[in-house]
Parts: sequence; C-alpha cells; structure tokens
Amino acid sequence: MTWNEKRQHMVDSQLVKRGIKDNRVIQSMRKVPRHDFVPDPLRKCAYDDCPLSIGKGQTISQPYMVAFMTECLRLRGDERVLEIGTGSGYQTAILAELAEEVYTIERIPELSERAQGLLDEAGYGNIFFKVGDGTYGWPERGPFEGIIVTAGAPNISSVLGEQLNEEGRMVVPVGTRHSQSLYRITKRKGQLMEENLILCIFVPLIGEYAWEEN
Ligand code: SAM
Repeated sequence: MTWNEKRQHMVDSQLVKRGIKDNRVIQSMRKVPRHDFVPDPLRKCAYDDCPLSIGKGQTISQPYMVAFMTECLRLRGDERVLEIGTGSGYQTAILAELAEEVYTIERIPELSERAQGLLDEAGYGNIFFKVGDGTYGWPERGPFEGIIVTAGAPNISSVLGEQLNEEGRMVVPVGTRHSQSLYRITKRKGQLMEENLILCIFVPLIGEYAWEEN
C-alpha cells in the first residue's frame, strides 16, 4: 500500500468505525501525512493503531486519540488554539488545518525545533512556537477558544482555565503519572464545567503547575 492508501485505511478503520463524526476532523486526518512526523525507524508504523516513540522519552499520540481530542474542541475555523506539548508536531498540523491560529509550546528544545522545521516546510503560516513550560499557558496571546494539553496533568489547572474564552473548550488528560481520564472543560459564565470522557495514558506534563521532572 502507498502512504496515502495506508492513511485512508487508518481513517476508515480506526476513526470513522469508532465513531469520530466531525467531517472537518476526518478530512484533516485524511490529508496530513502523519508518516512525515514519525522519525525513522518507526515511520513504517505511522498508521498503526497506537502511540509511537519520537525520541527524548516522548510519544506521538495514537491517531484515534488525536482525532477524539480534536473533535472535543469543536473547531469551526475562526478560533485561536493553544496546544501544550508540541511533540512531533502532528497534532499541531491537524489543529492548523482546523483553526485560524495555533500557539504551541514544547519544553524540549530539540522536539520543538524538529516540529517547527517540518511544519514550516509543509507551508503552515498560522502556527506560533514557543519553547518552555506550557503549564504557564501563553497569557500574552490569549484568551483562547480552545486549549489542548497533550500530556498527563495532576489536576485541572486554573492558570490555563483563566486563559480560556467564555464558551472556550479545554481538553486535558488528568490523573496519575501513569494513567489518566480525559476531561473536557468548558467555560460558562466564568465557571469551568467538567466532563470526564474516556480513560487514557499520556506521558507526564512536567512543569511548575504539574509534575516534577523526576
Ligand atoms: N501532540 C504531540 C504529537 O502529536 O506528537 C504528542 C505530544 S507528547 C504525548 C507530550 C509532549 O508534551 C512531549 O513532547 C513533552 O515533552 C511535552 N511536555 C510535557 N510537559 C510539558 C510542559 N510543561 N510544557 C510543554 N510541553 C510539555
């Protein structure tokens, strides 16, 4: 199979079949070449139904998890979105297809640089990068209609909640260092409303308002 055939098969068998419905999310995942974001020697597994190592002890999330988290943000195209955990840059590309502007923060400089190179080469002009501790958010560029945290947090952060717009959505895995529940937080009348959605396993969110490094 070609890369494109593998990608279409991944979308049909892993996303549509499991209930992903947002057509814009489905189309973006049909389009973005996930294999470009997976480093060798795992590139051949890019469309497998699992997370994969991207080096530095970090991972690119399972395709279904990327689709599910993105669908939870309910993007329509005119939003400013904050992503915490750039990682490979794959989720960033999906967000850049679906929102007006994406602000993405990664704490490991080598990962941020690699992702930036790939996303610049792909021609995205609506992504803004930062290296540092994303648990502070990016208040100078907020508030945001969407916030996506792609690493597991110990709690729902009020620091990030403050950077959400009214009716803004935040998706974040919350739990222990080893397993979490995925939450969607919606800001209504200034209050953060919580929905506990599914169980998940992410690498830990490391930072001032999250886990310590070791
Ligand atoms: N969304 C990514 C992708 O598509 O490849 C997957 C991200 S990976 C599961 C989680 C990332 O969060 C790692 O690259 C990790 O270095 C980063 N991270 C952890 N704590 C962070 C923090 N406080 N600020 C920014 N990035 C952080």
